[in-house]
Amino acid sequence: MTKTLNSRIPEGPVAEKWTNYKAHQRLVNPKNKLKLDVIVVGTGLAGASAAASLGEMGFNVLNFCIQDSPRRAHSIAAQGGINAAKNYQNDGDSIYRLFYDTVKGGDYRARESNVYRLAEVSNDIIDQCVAQGVPFAREYGGMLANRSFGGAQVSRTFYAKGQTGQQLLLGAYSSLSLQIQAGKVKLYTRYEMEDVVIVDEHARGIIAKNLVSGELERFTANAVVIATGGYGNTYFLSTNAMGCNCTAAVQCYRKGAYFANPSYVQIHPTCIPVHGDKQSKLTLMSESLRNDGRIWVPKNLDDAKKLQSGEMKGSDIPEEARDYYLERRYPAFGNLVPRDVASRAAKERCDNGHGVNNTGLAVYLDFSESINRLGIDAILQRYGNLFDMYEEITDVNPGEVANEIDGVKYYNPMMIFPAIHYTMGGIWVDYELMTTVSGLFSIGECNFSDHGANRLGASALMQGLADGYFVLPYTIQNYLADQALWPHLDTNRAEFDEAENGVKAELDRLMNIKGKRSVDSIHKELGHIMWEHVGMGRTKEGLEEGLKQMASLREEFNTNLFIPGSKEGLNIELDKAIHLRDFILMGELVAYDALHREESCGGHFREEHQTEEGEAKRDDENFFYVGCWEYKGDDAKAPELIKEPLEYEAIKVQTRNYKN
Ligand SMILES: Cc1cc2nc3c(=O)[nH]c(=O)nc-3n(C[C@H](O)[C@H](O)[C@H](O)COP(=O)(O)OP(=O)(O)OC[C@H]3O[C@@H](n4cnc5c(N)ncnc54)[C@H](O)[C@@H]3O)c2cc1C
Repeated sequence: MTKTLNSRIPEGPVAEKWTNYKAHQRLVNPKNKLKLDVIVVGTGLAGASAAASLGEMGFNVLNFCIQDSPRRAHSIAAQGGINAAKNYQNDGDSIYRLFYDTVKGGDYRARESNVYRLAEVSNDIIDQCVAQGVPFAREYGGMLANRSFGGAQVSRTFYAKGQTGQQLLLGAYSSLSLQIQAGKVKLYTRYEMEDVVIVDEHARGIIAKNLVSGELERFTANAVVIATGGYGNTYFLSTNAMGCNCTAAVQCYRKGAYFANPSYVQIHPTCIPVHGDKQSKLTLMSESLRNDGRIWVPKNLDDAKKLQSGEMKGSDIPEEARDYYLERRYPAFGNLVPRDVASRAAKERCDNGHGVNNTGLAVYLDFSESINRLGIDAILQRYGNLFDMYEEITDVNPGEVANEIDGVKYYNPMMIFPAIHYTMGGIWVDYELMTTVSGLFSIGECNFSDHGANRLGASALMQGLADGYFVLPYTIQNYLADQALWPHLDTNRAEFDEAENGVKAELDRLMNIKGKRSVDSIHKELGHIMWEHVGMGRTKEGLEEGLKQMASLREEFNTNLFIPGSKEGLNIELDKAIHLRDFILMGELVAYDALHREESCGGHFREEHQTEEGEAKRDDENFFYVGCWEYKGDDAKAPELIKEPLEYEAIKVQTRNYKN
């Protein structure tokens, strides 16, 4: 029998669905709210905003994170900005346009109703954050300033220098702190969720490891919300923080939550290139730099060869010998094409020998034209901290004159290359953000909901805060309305025993492998397999080979892993081993999804499916659906595919065009 999914999209025209939903959803009365507990796992922008909002509404919230403070969640790293359809620039923006750009940017693989709601609440987010005191950049007259991000022809990105995530997280954290102080949120730092507990087919608790003592503890609630971020670190090298992991999400998947569109992984075009095999982290240079920076490689292969051998510098190459390939190929959007398009174009140039560093895997991002036009002060005001960051890492100052040819000053260009950055796939959720497990919700980067096959820049912060401040606090009530009748659960129940014993057995198993290889060495190997076979360009043969290699790597992990120390107390290697166990499963999921999706769309590029010009070639007839995967009881077994067909009523599905 074919399995189906109920995405619970409300009736009515797309622009009225959310209003109608809110008008008719069930509510929990104030007295009952006091009796209901909600577990929120994660304190990034999604988790912190949800926990603060639910606490403020009157629910009792248990909020968990693996760091020593919510403020150290990965969201703090976000640099460039957050989108909203305020139209302060009067440049033609609207809720519809943000909705349209997001669906188009996602290569027509997102769910229309969710994206419309996201665009609709985007403006509330800015109001909320301004009220919290988030110091968004302002124009001289006091108006909030905007800049442009990829995939849009309007300026709708609000920002706080190159530290937008940090400032937004401080805002969410202050709301959270208020609720902690009020006793409505109980915060558990340095706790890692290891399992979700299901009672009578409802999520009713979690098993979490106290990362300092090593003890396992049981927590119960009326609903569980997972806000644990993305799975980019499956690739080992990524722009994500080192602690980012997908253990909570994978454990939910093992317990029955479907995983949607895992192959939609975003490769960001502007990262500092890999510079050796001892590296464990890649650095993003914000997309905001593409507002004023121009991306180029030399036109002539001879020049490229000289750059690669170090005989020449980028600033030696005059204007007429430079190929601003994005401006050439995509005149309408130029350097501001979406990330998937810009990344593939960089790969194409490098594959053809035009790379500019010693590995041939880098292109230039150059500010000469904008500095000559606007002056260095204006540019430093916009990107000063990003220039500093680049200089600290590479010892090259992009704001420094490097050469003068025919009276034109040339500044040091940055070198950049695409790197793994964000994951559009995630736990499948319905319109209410509930997973396929009743009472288990998922928000932020952890779910799959809004970005289709490619996320536009500055839309992750928007989604995380939309989910946490404005969507979940409504939709979860529809579920919790019934829960007021449910008694508090005793954590001595058999379901909690079983879950805790399962985690304990896993910890013992890992500690007892006593092999020879460190976690990092196996993780690095996984990263190589992923980048090589499940990376920017994918083929049937490559994906099959990747799956074969990952199966052997799991065997190696299970038989030859070495974890020093003991499971009692703090043991970071043990924690990393748990994450790696789940990254291997995640890597396979990405590959299975990529293998079955015989088309190219957004961040998923199957080399067999491209146009003559090398653009992604979708197959709407056969793949116009969300690909959801069901766990089959054993990590080594292939998952089962279940499809959620997409239905568009407001937007005409067409081939993306950024050329004119
Ligand atoms: C360098 C960089 C720059 C970026 N810049 C931008 C930008 O300018 N604009 C934009 O829109 N997006 C940007 N993004 C993307 C954006 O930052 C993220 O998608 C977003 O912050 C994710 O928020 P989140 O709340 O979903 O998850 P996170 O911020 O990753 O938070 C996850 C939380 O879950 C907790 N956690 C994880 N696992 C467990 C577990 N098992 N048990 C308990 N707790 C757990 C963590 O402790 C943490 O609190 C950027 C990303 C990177 C890497």
